[in-house]
Amino acid sequence: MTMSDLTQCVVTPRVATKGFDPVGVGIHRASTIVFEDAAAYASRGARGEAGYSYGLYGTPTTRTLEEKLTRLEQGTRTFLTPSGQAANALAAMAFLEKGQHILLADTVYPPMRDFALNDLARMGVEVAFFDPTDLEDLKARIRPETRMIWCESPGSTTMELMDIPAAADLAHKAGALLGVDNTWATPLNLKPLTLGADIVIEALTKYVAGHSDVLMGSITVRDPDLAKPLKDMIGRMGIGASPDDASLVLRGLETLGVRMRHSGEVAYRFAERLVGHPMIDQVLLPGLAGTQGYDLFKRDFLGNSGVFTLTFPDKSAANVFAALDHFCVFAIGASWGGTRSLAAPMPVRANRTATQWQGPDVTLRLSIGLEDENELWDDLQRFLDALASPSVRTDAAE
Ligand SMILES: *Cc1c(COP(=O)(O)O)cnc(C)c1O
Repeated sequence: MTMSDLTQCVVTPRVATKGFDPVGVGIHRASTIVFEDAAAYASRGARGEAGYSYGLYGTPTTRTLEEKLTRLEQGTRTFLTPSGQAANALAAMAFLEKGQHILLADTVYPPMRDFALNDLARMGVEVAFFDPTDLEDLKARIRPETRMIWCESPGSTTMELMDIPAAADLAHKAGALLGVDNTWATPLNLKPLTLGADIVIEALTKYVAGHSDVLMGSITVRDPDLAKPLKDMIGRMGIGASPDDASLVLRGLETLGVRMRHSGEVAYRFAERLVGHPMIDQVLLPGLAGTQGYDLFKRDFLGNSGVFTLTFPDKSAANVFAALDHFCVFAIGASWGGTRSLAAPMPVRANRTATQWQGPDVTLRLSIGLEDENELWDDLQRFLDALASPSVRTDAAE
């Protein structure tokens, strides 16, 4: 059929793709997917898990990222979400109903705490918290209605480690699911599904994407039976992930291993050198000898990441905010896991109910990026000097 120019502008000819095998993953954008004939359209529902029917339900780009994550997590199925927090919220919501009970580690990512207290509670789900360092506390809080235990190990900011296999055992004996937010470790350094967890989420936004320019999350399940309720609910809610964003995450994932190793090693060296500093109370980095959960770390983790937290004694706590302005290389900002090193002051007390935060209510979370190690260390010294005498401006702070 011959076509006028106007039609040719719209109807795109097919060129050969056979033999074109780039290393990277193509960006396939689509809402509409066209069908070869009316029968194919009518039977699109029968295309199954691997088929395509509409952009919202997956494109080759998003499916490639899901497949890579499924393999790294050693699960059976992964779903992408528009952010890490969306992964947290959807993973819990898909498996909970009115009258059921969720137990969350007291140290979970604060927006997950808010989601549970506001939205799950509004749905009629009973919400309670437990001390992730005390399995007896967890055990005592499990009820016949408990359907989910949700944790993060290490805990957000304060880095408490939890015994995931033991918690999985308690959950399963009670007929509950164990979900783990694995953002700190990434699937390279901890594989919760191999330790008994049923669901693992990642804020891909952080280390996996790695460049502070994209938001995405993932939910991976171990048991194939958990995939369908999740997939159906995500679809009904109209939640999908952008192929452009997925391609950024796929690119970041290629360098995840070297970035994590570098940031983790520098963070470890810094943490070791900061222990005992007179202006610092505790250095919270999982894997640092003498810290809570050291044995769990050695048993379960394959490495540490570049995010750690400082706590302060009374004499320096009041100076933390003023001292932050002395940083020249570290940027001040939320999130972490990018190439740029970040410092973020974090209060803790208001986000704890099952445990009590001791000491001044200011911590400093540091994310070690890819800048020169010596320059980062010098920058930390400027901050520490300013903690001791905040009124003395160094020339570097100009
Ligand atoms: C940042 C973060 C999230 C949320 O990720 P977003 O993509 O920013 O929504 C979830 N869990 C943890 C532990 C995080 O640090």
